[in-house]
Amino acid sequence: MRKNVWAICTALVISLFFGTTLDVAAAKQKTHYIGLHDRLLDFEDVQVIDNDMKVPLSEITKILYIPVKKEKDITYLRKRGIVISYDESTKRTSKDGVELSWSPIVDVDGTLYISAKYIAKVTGFKVEYIQNLKTLRIYRDDYEHMSHADYEKHVKQLLDEKKPIKPIIPIKLPPVTPTKPSAKSATTIYLTFDDGPNKFTTINNATLKKYNVQGTFFFLGKHMKNNESIVKAVAKDGHYIGTHSMTHDKEKVYKSSKSFIDEMNEGTKIILQMTGQDAKLLRVPYGSKPHVTPAMQKLLNQNDYKLWDWDVDSNDWKYTDEQVDQIIENVRTGVVKADKSGDRDIIVLLHDRKQTSKALPEIIEWLQKEGYTIKTYEPEGHIIQNFLHDTTL
Ligand SMILES: [Zn+2]
Repeated sequence: MRKNVWAICTALVISLFFGTTLDVAAAKQKTHYIGLHDRLLDFEDVQVIDNDMKVPLSEITKILYIPVKKEKDITYLRKRGIVISYDESTKRTSKDGVELSWSPIVDVDGTLYISAKYIAKVTGFKVEYIQNLKTLRIYRDDYEHMSHADYEKHVKQLLDEKKPIKPIIPIKLPPVTPTKPSAKSATTIYLTFDDGPNKFTTINNATLKKYNVQGTFFFLGKHMKNNESIVKAVAKDGHYIGTHSMTHDKEKVYKSSKSFIDEMNEGTKIILQMTGQDAKLLRVPYGSKPHVTPAMQKLLNQNDYKLWDWDVDSNDWKYTDEQVDQIIENVRTGVVKADKSGDRDIIVLLHDRKQTSKALPEIIEWLQKEGYTIKTYEPEGHIIQNFLHDTTL
């Protein structure tokens, strides 16, 4: 009777955990995963047999520190006073000498596999099945670990990294002939937008599209994580996306050379994961000077980064959306001044903010009316523009 109740419960739990029937063939393409505390274990093979995830016995016992001993036809697993034995001749498993109604250990072409859930539970672990990631997490409450929700996010990220990335093919705009051809058409304007992606990125993108021009966006990692669709849309429309750090937090970004380069690498990695583009141009928060130290400069170099500050500061962040005229005026004055000084590549600093979105149509209209060429950043024609006067960046 007890055996039956146990069998029914097991069947119930298994069907609750796994829902649909999964076949062995599907499992061979590494569709199922086993985790231990905060790790994702790298098993050669996870097989789903009888709706149960089974792993090579020799591998899991090593990971869970379970001694294995083979005597004649019988394999013994001993842990915490419990003895699990598998008899090759009968293909049955026993626990403490009592034969089980089902065999958590099976022989697959001469290799023993064991139910991951069974061996975990019987040796004092708990298990949690993450249905959508097909991951069985083994853990113990007395061992420090992240929450199941955090673990799920963590595993999702790990599995996403393993997937090959399909690059987004950006739209290439044909060169725009200025409406009023003049000496100014020899001057290129790079409109750059910091601090997105957010809802104003989408508005700015729509405005750029309306005027048939492309810009350059410097995104923050923390915002990219929540706005993947915006990142993809911007990349698809042919605007260059570079990183602007993960946190934008002065205390964190510039805390050390390591924190600095970590923020840049992490942001760049997110762009790569979302767009398939290896973005080597970055803009550091608050500008490079005086924050970027020689050591950080060196690291940028070693990692093949390029760094852009700006020629014209719109100071857009200082104004409300009632003061858009001031933003437009700042861009106009700045561009005219830079142009007169002989600068043929003028980088304009803007932000993905409400007031900027309001000012942008008029800024573009003025630039086009004056005959300037507006372009997105092109890595193959890199322009050096940094306050550090570092010609290698
Ligand atoms: Zn910024």
